[in-house]
Amino acid sequence: MPPFQQQKSLKELCTFGIGGTARFFVEVRTIPEMQMALRTCKDKKIPFFILGKGSNCLFSDQGFDGLVILNKIDFVTKVQPEIFHVGAGYSFSLLGAQTARQGWTGLEFASGIPASVGGAVFMNAGANGTETWATLLSVDFVNPDGILQTFTKEQLEFSYRFSSFHHLPGAIVGAKFKLEPSTSAREKQLQIIHYRKATQPYGHKSAGCIFRNPACGYAGALIQESGLKGVTFGGAQISTLHANFIINSDNATAKDVLTLISHIQDEVYKKTGILLESEVRIVQTPDQIMEK
Ligand SMILES: Cc1cc2nc3c(=O)[nH]c(=O)nc-3n(C[C@H](O)[C@H](O)[C@H](O)COP(=O)(O)OP(=O)(O)OC[C@H]3O[C@@H](n4cnc5c(N)ncnc54)[C@H](O)[C@@H]3O)c2cc1C
Repeated sequence: MPPFQQQKSLKELCTFGIGGTARFFVEVRTIPEMQMALRTCKDKKIPFFILGKGSNCLFSDQGFDGLVILNKIDFVTKVQPEIFHVGAGYSFSLLGAQTARQGWTGLEFASGIPASVGGAVFMNAGANGTETWATLLSVDFVNPDGILQTFTKEQLEFSYRFSSFHHLPGAIVGAKFKLEPSTSAREKQLQIIHYRKATQPYGHKSAGCIFRNPACGYAGALIQESGLKGVTFGGAQISTLHANFIINSDNATAKDVLTLISHIQDEVYKKTGILLESEVRIVQTPDQIMEK
């Protein structure tokens, strides 16, 4: 395992481009390196945070007073013709495009989601009417003692943007997916990516949808109907293209984004009686990783 770096800027490690520094930082490329990093944290009592592609994180302006472990475990092997075993640091979007191109259906929706496989499993990422759990067979996981375990899908819970890993400290290091052969997978995947590019602010720094969709309807529609598109606080702006995206339009701070989140929640609640909940992981201090 490489030595820990100190005072690493978190802005460079997330798609929002926001955040202070991590007290310690390490990039791990293998499962034994992840085991060693987690054992070191336990021995030295250092809080840790596992980072994938940073596409669903809002880091605090004060940074993270612990170790940020960047997961770069990125193998892909076919264990059976239809079963793919993938490292948790592998690009989920690339996996979706590659499998569709090879004629496998089930992960086309991943194309364009800027996640790691581990982050997609953790968040149960979803789009186009499907979610990550649907084709999942099992998950390889390293616990804080550095012990490697494999959970079958049946041993885990998944729901809308939730997995059992929200309550299990440790690191997802790999996952197996079972796909089905299809002659139309590539066409479907290309349509999905085309639609995403047309409807989401892809060129801008963001963390994707900022709010979970409530039971009745879409968060984006509620924000738009509340007349909030384009509203700006400091450097953070509600996208004019997709109202459920907050973009970092001009050196935004985490405080700017949190202020805008609260403003949206207040305004939408006043107009509709619905309290929107954040989907993004707000990383403040080691003990306070939360959804607002
Ligand atoms: C332009 C854009 C479009 C998006 N579109 C979608 C969409 O269509 N659907 C959707 O669901 N989401 C979407 N997102 C949000 C985001 O991509 C997903 O939530 C994704 O699953 C996050 O993956 P990540 O690797 O970036 O995780 P990170 O942001 O790095 O981490 C998110 C959480 O997962 C945990 N985590 C990450 N990796 C591991 C691991 N290996 N082990 C344990 N915990 C881990 C982190 O600790 C953190 O709590 C979008 C984001 C952007 C910027």
